[in-house]
Amino acid sequence: MVEAPATTAANPSYISNRAPLAPSPFVKLPIGSIVPKGWLRRQLELEADGMTGRLEEISPWCRFAESAWASPDGKGKAGWEELPYWLKGFGDLGYVLKSDKITQQARKWVDASLASQQPDGYFGPSANKTSLEGHPDLWPHMVMLNVMQSFFEATQDPRVLPFMTRYLKWLNSQPPEAFGRGYWPKLRWGDTVESAYWLYNRTADPWLLDLARKIHQNMARWDSGVINWHNVNIAQGFREPGVYFMQARDPKFLRVATSNYETVMERYGQFPGGGFAGDENCRPGFGDPRQGFETCGIVEFMHSFEMLVKVSGDPMWADRCEELAFNSFPAALTADWKALHYLTCANQVQLDEKNKSPGVENSGAMFSYSPYEVYRCCQHNVSHGWPYYAEELWLATPDGGLCASLYAANEVTAKVGDGATVTLSEDTSYPFGETVAFKVKTAGPVKFRLYLRIPRWCSAASAEINGQSVPLGARPLTYAALERVWNNEDRLTLRLPMQVSARRWEKNQNAVSVNYGPLTFSLKIGERYTRYGGTDAWPEWAVYATAPWNYGLVLDDNDPAKSFEIIRKPGGLADQPFTHETAPIELRAKARKIAGWQQDAQGLVGKLQPSPIKSDEPIESVTLIPMGAARLRITMFPVIGTGEAAHDWTALKPSPVSASHCFEGDSVDALVDGLEPKSSNDHDIPRFTWWAHRGTVEWVQYSFEKPRRVSSTQVYWFDDTGAGQCRAPKSWKVLYRDGEEWKPVEAAGEYKVQTDAYNRADFKPVQTTALRVEAQLQPDFSGGILEWKVME
Ligand SMILES: [Zn+2]
Repeated sequence: MVEAPATTAANPSYISNRAPLAPSPFVKLPIGSIVPKGWLRRQLELEADGMTGRLEEISPWCRFAESAWASPDGKGKAGWEELPYWLKGFGDLGYVLKSDKITQQARKWVDASLASQQPDGYFGPSANKTSLEGHPDLWPHMVMLNVMQSFFEATQDPRVLPFMTRYLKWLNSQPPEAFGRGYWPKLRWGDTVESAYWLYNRTADPWLLDLARKIHQNMARWDSGVINWHNVNIAQGFREPGVYFMQARDPKFLRVATSNYETVMERYGQFPGGGFAGDENCRPGFGDPRQGFETCGIVEFMHSFEMLVKVSGDPMWADRCEELAFNSFPAALTADWKALHYLTCANQVQLDEKNKSPGVENSGAMFSYSPYEVYRCCQHNVSHGWPYYAEELWLATPDGGLCASLYAANEVTAKVGDGATVTLSEDTSYPFGETVAFKVKTAGPVKFRLYLRIPRWCSAASAEINGQSVPLGARPLTYAALERVWNNEDRLTLRLPMQVSARRWEKNQNAVSVNYGPLTFSLKIGERYTRYGGTDAWPEWAVYATAPWNYGLVLDDNDPAKSFEIIRKPGGLADQPFTHETAPIELRAKARKIAGWQQDAQGLVGKLQPSPIKSDEPIESVTLIPMGAARLRITMFPVIGTGEAAHDWTALKPSPVSASHCFEGDSVDALVDGLEPKSSNDHDIPRFTWWAHRGTVEWVQYSFEKPRRVSSTQVYWFDDTGAGQCRAPKSWKVLYRDGEEWKPVEAAGEYKVQTDAYNRADFKPVQTTALRVEAQLQPDFSGGILEWKVME
């Protein structure tokens, strides 16, 4: 048993960190070494036949003739992150599947990018060189460097290293402040630190380390903690100190990457599935499991974890990667990989295309499945999730060994010991089965260490070699290291016994979630797919529940894990196990309905309330299925209780605000969400508008539960001059309800109409049950309100 492989030697066969970079416990195998099989291969094939493989047909950013990545000086169109995002996974998909069709299609783009390099080293869209107020916006280039790294690993193309050298030399000629510019770039420069080390390990150019240090010191400093609360920025930014550790060689940097992760999960990750509540940004008060995790966040988090396993050797990062990969990731897409959504939530009972803001931060379609640019970043970035995962199943170790880091069926061919080639086949239905069977193919006896990761949930791992039991003695979150002379046809069988566990989330309403090994389970809810848009070839889907979902679990108080019966379906594992029909394992549980637990007006599942919860409904048997197979789901359950400790579920109160009309992409709740506008043209907070009503008289209304004395109100008008067709109104006034009538208040002065400020109206106090603001919109324009306050 080892905590991590020793770093005293350097792997003789594979490119490892070059001094003075800290040696890493694990080294990535060249792309193509691992041939995925089983369900993982099927995911990649579905990806190739689905959206990722055919994105040139449906994405406006992937049209070769129109892309500034193909013709940098053309019309400068479509030259930002989308194409690199897609190409990064698309290329690797081709290399991993060894698909000539895909690699040739990817190469067309790579060739164009390589050919676009200017004498100074810059490449790609000319417009990006000055698009940040005259300065370069180099965020998309960070992604394109990953494209080039994979292309080189797969092809050894001699153009790549000189190309990257010229570009990074140009980058190194930029002043230090260049790395602190722009919202996205300054938070994401850690990606290029990694690319600089990758190149340094191949060329030994010492100035690359100067560049990496300069980037680290001048970018947003993730080594000082979580400095930004945007979902994707966190998912890829938090790891930067862990990457820079290789150069700094101070363990505090590795610790900060860990503490960044823990800080985010402590505040916003208090539910299962591996993600956190960040349905664009994390927001205080929005930590319920109905909050979403962006698909870009899922794949970037997985990639971060894959990097940190290699840098730190800590198997916990591999566990975290599996947790996302098996539970949240499959459900982010339709089972045929022809559509995806922006947000995946632990509790999510209706996937329609309508606005869910401000319940989730972003307005507009966020939950329904679409292959189109409505999900712009995710539509492209999702591509690298499975290919990168497949590349990381096996890792080389400094002592010339191999480590099974992520378990899935595959065959790996790699150099071990002093350079002998072995092939290991790995046969398993993991995570749906607990046995992993390895078989060795070698030309002759070869000595090397085989490392096996022991997951955190597995306390009784065991192994046999050629039928003989071998003591592993390995605790959870360590590696079993088997050093021996391996012979052709040797067989190693690893058993990772799985058990049902019920996890209580004391920090999130004392709710419960259910795991079986690495799989999280969700309530199986009947799903009705309704097409709402798209074409026959590329439909867009809303998914509605056909069965009740508002259940609390009835648990065995003495041993909650005993409350579940494991049902293994007969027959072999299906190619695509992440569907209702094909999920090979189900759990049966006892539950009672909670009558008051309902969806809100916008279709979001109601927020959890503190467990235990009282319910007089009859006990029913319910079925749980793997979360990755449940497109609709409850994964965080209230717990049913009795006696004094149990609470009644409080039914939702109707919204106190209403309006003459509200645009479907906006919400009346935005009027009173407490989010302060920075200007009348603030697009970062939810808003209310009367769009598309123009030039009309409109109103918003605040209703009180009982009569209230009010004497003042403040309105912050929405006005998107320069961007849209909403303006502050021509005029406005305040009315109060008197019986059945609406009467004007006696205002203390004029009703001013100002932008970028609250407009305050004081009036003779009235005792009333409701107040209205009535606005006369400007001719031909609509209008809206960012925030509204009513005062005593
Ligand atoms: Zn995205």
